[in-house]
Amino acid sequence: MRTSDHVTAHGTVDGTLLVGGMPVDRLAERVGSTPFFAYDRAMITERVAAVKAALPERVSLGYAVKANPMPAVVQHLAGLVDHLDVASAGELAVALDTGQAPSAISFAGPGKTDAELRRAVASGVTIEVESRTELQRLVRTGKELALRPRAAVRVNPPFAVKGSGMRMGGGPQQFGVDAEAVPSLLGEVSDHDVDVVGYHVFAGSQNLSAAILGEAQERTVELVLELAEHVPGTVEYVNLGGGFGIPYFEKDERLDLDAVGRRLSELVDGRLAPALPDATVVMELGRFLVGEAGVYVTRVVDVKESRGRSYAVVDGGMHHQLAASGNFGQVIRRNYPLALATRALDEPTGPVTVVGCLCTPLDLLGDEVDLPGTEVGDLVVVFQAGAYGLTASPTAFLGHPSPSEVLV
Ligand SMILES: *Cc1c(COP(=O)(O)O)cnc(C)c1O
Repeated sequence: MRTSDHVTAHGTVDGTLLVGGMPVDRLAERVGSTPFFAYDRAMITERVAAVKAALPERVSLGYAVKANPMPAVVQHLAGLVDHLDVASAGELAVALDTGQAPSAISFAGPGKTDAELRRAVASGVTIEVESRTELQRLVRTGKELALRPRAAVRVNPPFAVKGSGMRMGGGPQQFGVDAEAVPSLLGEVSDHDVDVVGYHVFAGSQNLSAAILGEAQERTVELVLELAEHVPGTVEYVNLGGGFGIPYFEKDERLDLDAVGRRLSELVDGRLAPALPDATVVMELGRFLVGEAGVYVTRVVDVKESRGRSYAVVDGGMHHQLAASGNFGQVIRRNYPLALATRALDEPTGPVTVVGCLCTPLDLLGDEVDLPGTEVGDLVVVFQAGAYGLTASPTAFLGHPSPSEVLV
């Protein structure tokens, strides 16, 4: 996708980019300082509607809070989706504050502390156990609190998902219980001590191929059906993961959501639901629901030429939006789409290298980007900043103030 497609997706008035219907320069005045993150409420709403329209009716849509845990964003999504997935006690508190029913909140992630397990058991959410010893600690916690914990087993599948930005399944992993170890693990637990409601499989993130996602979903469904008989009671919960990607780079093409939905209908309506009629089937998406709705807005504080190259130095950088600098798991650094807020439709006058204000060459937001002539005071907008932005960045690095976040 080209930068102009991102500009069009957000909209403009008189050549100025809009977020949530407000021109970004006016929004900057409303926020009061740069840099800031702005998330477009209507774009999130539309995205959820598109996903719900594409997925089979039988599938519950979950939001993976770690993609963007801003409380206002989570509150907005809680009213739109069926399920929230959290990965820490901090996220759990944000999810519970929305009023979401605890039965529609799941808690995944390695290294849950005893304190986190206590809070999760007390709140009544589904705890997705990642190891044998975590299950043992969960049972002990339940006894201490005189509560029967609700648990699902996170399964490390015997397969990996090709083409994922981040692989989280297949081979040895810190995530989940190896599929082949699940039967003996569940053979050890007493139904009296813990309510094991089903399985969770999440094998990868940031995938743009409907065919590969479909294949992973097929293997996931097969795996869950194979393991189903080892659940002591009824299988009430099957979390099939997600991993839907968004286009960051020019050569990235949009995921074909309808194709994903069709394949999932065959798998869920045709195979999973007939075998496990009492199961709530969840797909949990993070980045796909919020990533494209967010922009990171910075202001140019300096422009300079150095041996034939033009630089624009902005007041933000990798300490707020690490991923755009290429240092968040990327193998090859490519530019995130970026534009000048008030001249979003102007013809470029030449390449400008946009750098942040940190004293390290890693702080590169755009390498030789075609932009209209850049001046001090211009607002530079980085697109695709709604997921894994602020909270996935080293904000303390160099001691600059934290940016604001607004949901517009
Ligand atoms: C991070 C995570 C997600 C969300 O991944 P996205 O790529 O943002 O959709 C979903 N499930 C689990 C278990 C995760 O850890």
